[in-house]
Amino acid sequence: MDSKGVAAPAVPEVALQSGNARPMPAVGMGTAAFPMVHENTKNAVLAAIEVGYRHLDTASLYRTEKPVGEAVAEAVRRGLVQSREEVFVTSKLWGSQCHPDLVLPSLRESLQNLQMDYVDLYLVHWPVCLKPGPPKVPNKREDALPFNFEGVWRAMEECQRLGLAKAIGVSNFTTKHLEKILAVATIPPAVNQVELNPVWQQRTLRAYCDAKGIRVAAYSPLGGQNWDGTGNAVLESPVLAEIAKARGKTVAQVSLRWIYEQGVTSIVKSYNKERLKQNLEIFDWELTEEDRLKISQITQKKIIQVESLFTPEGEFTNLQMEYVDLYLIHWPVCLKPGPLGFPNKREDALPFDFEGVWRAMEECQRLGLARAIGVSNFATKHLKKVLAVATIPPAVDQVELNPVWQQRTLRDYCAAKGIRVAAYSPLGGQNWDGQGNSVLESPVLAEIAKARGKTVAQELDDAAAASAVVFASRYVQEPLPRYELGRKSISKDAAYQIIHDELLLDSSPRLNLASFVTTWMEPECDKLILEGINKNYADMDEYPNRCVNIIARLFNAPLSAGETAVGVGTVGSSEAIMLAGLAFKRRWQNRRKAAGKPHDKPNIVTGANVQVCWEKFARYFEVELKEVKLREGCYVMDPDEAVQMVDENTICVAAILGSTLTGEFEDVKRLNNLLAIKNMRTGWDTPIHVDAASGGFIAPFLYPELEWDFRLPLVKSINVSGHKYGLVYAGVGWVVWRNKEDLPEELIFHINYLGADQPTFTLNFSKGTQIIAQYYQFLRLGFEGYRNVMENCMESARILREGLERTGRFTVISKERGVPLVAFTFKGRDTALAFRLSAALRRFGWIVPAYTMPANLEHMAVLRVVVREDFGRTMAERFLSNVQMVLDELDDEAKGGPVPRMRFTIELGPPARGAGEEASVKVVKRESVVAVHRSVSLAGGKTKGVC
Ligand code: NAP
Repeated sequence: MDSKGVAAPAVPEVALQSGNARPMPAVGMGTAAFPMVHENTKNAVLAAIEVGYRHLDTASLYRTEKPVGEAVAEAVRRGLVQSREEVFVTSKLWGSQCHPDLVLPSLRESLQNLQMDYVDLYLVHWPVCLKPGPPKVPNKREDALPFNFEGVWRAMEECQRLGLAKAIGVSNFTTKHLEKILAVATIPPAVNQVELNPVWQQRTLRAYCDAKGIRVAAYSPLGGQNWDGTGNAVLESPVLAEIAKARGKTVAQVSLRWIYEQGVTSIVKSYNKERLKQNLEIFDWELTEEDRLKISQITQKKIIQVESLFTPEGEFTNLQMEYVDLYLIHWPVCLKPGPLGFPNKREDALPFDFEGVWRAMEECQRLGLARAIGVSNFATKHLKKVLAVATIPPAVDQVELNPVWQQRTLRDYCAAKGIRVAAYSPLGGQNWDGQGNSVLESPVLAEIAKARGKTVAQELDDAAAASAVVFASRYVQEPLPRYELGRKSISKDAAYQIIHDELLLDSSPRLNLASFVTTWMEPECDKLILEGINKNYADMDEYPNRCVNIIARLFNAPLSAGETAVGVGTVGSSEAIMLAGLAFKRRWQNRRKAAGKPHDKPNIVTGANVQVCWEKFARYFEVELKEVKLREGCYVMDPDEAVQMVDENTICVAAILGSTLTGEFEDVKRLNNLLAIKNMRTGWDTPIHVDAASGGFIAPFLYPELEWDFRLPLVKSINVSGHKYGLVYAGVGWVVWRNKEDLPEELIFHINYLGADQPTFTLNFSKGTQIIAQYYQFLRLGFEGYRNVMENCMESARILREGLERTGRFTVISKERGVPLVAFTFKGRDTALAFRLSAALRRFGWIVPAYTMPANLEHMAVLRVVVREDFGRTMAERFLSNVQMVLDELDDEAKGGPVPRMRFTIELGPPARGAGEEASVKVVKRESVVAVHRSVSLAGGKTKGVC
């Protein structure tokens, strides 16, 4: 990235998890300098670029956008960088610009100042909204307005969509503010820039941002520019000075290194070339564990407060808060109305109206002004009075609580009533009673603290944290409510951990070679799925509609340009098949009724290899299922036999493109031709449905010349699984019809309660976000991408097939053309061995089903490996070596293992010496019997769990 002869130190970069910005260098240069002198800034930025900075931080407030832009242009001219693209530029939206309609114009103004087409990152400077006007500090308190989080963020998103900001983010946002953004964001913030250094470490915020994929950037990494007039707590820190001395570094470098080690990006300001250089020399050495421990114990102090944006005079006429999270009754004490004061006259105490006051508290919560309500300094007897009248019980009782006042009874009572206890004065308070601090001065605590190398205060914090750890809580001891609703709530961490742990026992989906269902998608798509997870896609028809049209055209539906295809998104192929079957049944009935013929004995013709959902369709919708039997060497429906089975009551013939058993494509073209002749001869109109659940997303890409779809005139509908080779996670299928006439109008319902007329023809109404995932795959992969994926799958299948054949033990029965899977039997058709191999492979994590074939071929036990997108060559090779290991073990076992069985044929002769003696026994035949390892009960019927 560095250009012509500039030996800049390599600054590591981090990819942002949102937006399209280039990776962000881990140290950036700050340009907040007051008063701002244009030339100083420009020269400092040029010097910074020269020594290796590729990340510049400015803001409309700093008025440094112009000199930053000029310096970058100059750097390009001088060849310090080859183009503006080499530099990561951040600017910020000031509070007076935080109005939805001012966001875009403000960014355009910043770009004008910078003389750039885009900024790499655009941040909301503060979660503070001010009356519109030029950016400045300080501001009048009365000028603060409520912040329109949703409106402002929507406008920020628009900036990114227009390409004017490659990524968007925030600054000075707490977790609460972030929550508000995340609740409405379609593009989550990429960065939160906050005050952060060893003296203000922001542990909670960092953990929150990590969990949400938001990168944290540290401003004032060296303690700032004496912003609060109390000096510099970082550069003057004795702890940091000691570490710096021991490491032979400066305090600034220790601070910046520590920040870097926390995974945070520093924005450091220096206008001095030497110091600029020094601040980048932090990547080739490390702090020790001991250094880190010392830094973690530095007393914390925040420098920049939101109040510093305002003049001390005046009032906030608007607190910018529409609610408090928790509203407490401070004491169970009622005083004569009057200004708040302390202490009060004893005569001013009045009886406390528990019922009346609590009713009013409940009203506060109902109105949304308090998210929760509670009490403080309430003893159990006070709580009882409240609980006796409450319709909303108190959420919290905040009381004095610490090791010298442990409140055991109250805690037990609150635990039983579901009231959370909050401890005030956890460190013993501020000498409230004038007798010193019995907590911090406790010899017992001091002794424990000394032994643990902690302060008394930390010891208390740690104790609290320890009880918050799920594994140290009662939840790991108590039995789970499995079949009844638990009486009480449990914490969200515990609920998560318990279920998470149970799920650990599930096998790894990617090693499950039984399933056709997608087990991997790109992280971007995972992100989209999460973004849409709270939406019901039944309410929208835009994306399903786009997908249906794409699929119908992929299957060569006879559509003119711009004509809308007929089809629906379904939960999976079962629903799709039920719908297609219903449409055929209804069309057939309508025709029969019109001709005055009986219409009560519909049948459907399929191969015996169809998925179980066809059996379900037949049973649920009272259609006779006529199956063409399979035979040795032919594991799919024979079209000649199928057409012979067709009669006047046949609603359709269902052909399979990609048999579940062997992956083979049935010959739909021959079926079409034979059926067309029969239809012509008989005057019937028997149509074809193609169950392309597996093959529908394979054939168009690998075998475009193969005619199986709407190019064949009798093919009236096709179903395909989005969640198989459509490359989407479980839960999406599709069915498309050739024409409108093929889907009888009376099956379509029209609903308008969602706002507009919406035709619906589904068994299941609500739909998940997989629809969006399907659209993502279409958009992302295009024809080229799908073809490449399918080619890779076929290649992995080839490697597998050849590897299995090389063992000399198997006969591969799947064809090379079809769905990328390998179905094989043991040579000699040893059924028990097939099941043993399947069971033994589980030891390595592989799930490979062994199953018996349908009617006529029940004696065959087949093993099947489905090759999905995420099963590449390396996995195929590992799998083959595991198969070989199991085969060797089975051989060893057969040699020395089971006791050989012998079969004796005997003849009983008459007693040798007359009655009363035993009969004579003569062995007439002695033969050894093949060892049977284990008797296995073979499930009959269709391939129940394997599709
Ligand atoms: P900072 O980077 O922590 O500290 C800068 C001060 O330290 C300057 O006075 C600088 O003076 C000095 N310095 C730099 N390197 C040094 C070294 N190696 N040894 C000794 N002293 C050194 O403070 P900051 O300016 O507050 O924060 C950095 C940047 O973050 C700002 O410039 C701005 O871009 C951004 N920021 C953002 C926000 C926000 O609300 N988002 C708030 C504050 C700051 P010299 O210039 O003389 O070297």
